[in-house]
Amino acid sequence: MLYLSKTDFKEFLICQKCLWLKKKRPEDYVEGEFSAFLKKLIKDGYEVEECFQQTFSGGFSNIGSRKELIEKTKELIIQQKTIFQATFETEEGLFAKIDVLEFDKKSKKWNLYEVKSGSSIKTDLFHNHIKDIAFQKIVLEKSGIEVGKNFIVHLSKDYIKNGDLDLKQLFVLNEVSDKIADIKEETEIEIQKALDSFKIDDVDLKGCGCIYRSHGQRCDCFNLFNPQVPEYSTAHIFKGKKLETLVNDNIFDVKDVPEDFEATKIQRIKIDLQKTGIPQINQETVRETLSELVYPIYFLDYETFGKPIPFLDGYKTNQQLVFQYSLHILGKDGKLQHFEYLADNLENATRDLVKSMKSQIGPVGSVVVWYESFEKGRNKELMKLHPEFKDFLEDVNSRVFDLMKVFKKDYLHPDFKGSASIKKVLPVLVPELSYKELEVQNGTMAIEAWGKTMFDDVSEDEKAKIRKDLLKYCELDTLAMVEILRKLKS
Ligand code: SF4
Repeated sequence: MLYLSKTDFKEFLICQKCLWLKKKRPEDYVEGEFSAFLKKLIKDGYEVEECFQQTFSGGFSNIGSRKELIEKTKELIIQQKTIFQATFETEEGLFAKIDVLEFDKKSKKWNLYEVKSGSSIKTDLFHNHIKDIAFQKIVLEKSGIEVGKNFIVHLSKDYIKNGDLDLKQLFVLNEVSDKIADIKEETEIEIQKALDSFKIDDVDLKGCGCIYRSHGQRCDCFNLFNPQVPEYSTAHIFKGKKLETLVNDNIFDVKDVPEDFEATKIQRIKIDLQKTGIPQINQETVRETLSELVYPIYFLDYETFGKPIPFLDGYKTNQQLVFQYSLHILGKDGKLQHFEYLADNLENATRDLVKSMKSQIGPVGSVVVWYESFEKGRNKELMKLHPEFKDFLEDVNSRVFDLMKVFKKDYLHPDFKGSASIKKVLPVLVPELSYKELEVQNGTMAIEAWGKTMFDDVSEDEKAKIRKDLLKYCELDTLAMVEILRKLKS
């Protein structure tokens, strides 16, 4: 029997075809490029749940196989115990795991807690927390549980850790029983529709509704349904009415957009890049921009790590800890030096990082980064954490030069596919440098790897290997900027 869980239901509300594919043809279902990031979010979610569970005394953690969880839940319900991960399956094919189910001795009903790792209640199409808890409540009621109060629990955005975690300050409880009542009927109808969709033997694999949506709004299964749409398509450039017109005319390849099709200046440039295959480089402006650079040039890149539950004093929920930097210094004589720092303990991670940077970044010279708001933003946070370095960090921020800005409008290449990301620019300008051979290839992998060395039980050998991989990755980020700048100058 196919069961419908809360996650499945959410997916159904976004796209019926996606859920059908996942359930009926899992071999064709595309996991997606963000799966590593999503896995981290799920892991974070469990940590928040576990932390919230500590606010209940005498709660029972339900662990085991799915069958064991269901059987144990039945026993604990009879014993009227507070249950973490109470698990239910219904005859209709519904499945739910409840974060916390608390027996209220006064009302003799069960209070339902749905824990979220964010810092607000969301009600948009992709994250509708009220729908989530309404689904859980419906499953409980169909399982014969009398539900009392319903709470959505999220983290406080204002809480700053200072000593032991203050769980009362950290969590915000919202009673949403009335909000659930408002949407209960419609949710029941939607659940039935989702269950009915499991009875369909086949869906039309030719096309899907997101063909009219811009690129970023499509799911990873899009290409399966729309193989005629190239990887870089008109949906990367247009949206709304204009995209609709092109789709209705079966125009997906940017090269096929008619000359007289209404487009803004930047849209027209992007079309011309693909049609001609010739880069558009405004040499004079690039030269002028680069003339702002002052030697020695410091190429700086940070890696950061955050968790929903603050793990250090002075930190808020999800605040990023800067655990690594790579710094290349290019002298006027062309001499290149490399420095780096990778934290190996939590307590002194950022203090030692800034101290190390201060010993290497002198009072004169531009600080080159890629996407300045990231490094500048972290520096502002570091100033608050370590006011003794405020002057130094303010000075660094005042000397920041964002190399990415050159690739926003003055150096455009058809192979950048409309992006100014270093991951797109590097293979075109400096193909001999590549992230492909590295064990750590992107920021998400770096977060995961460093978190492992700090919070998981890993052997010294494994830790040493991870640290080596992290250093190589971050070094490439700054070396890439050095070589891109050299290419531009030449
Ligand atoms: S891209 Fe297609 S399959 Fe994916 S969510 Fe949109 S309509 Fe569904």
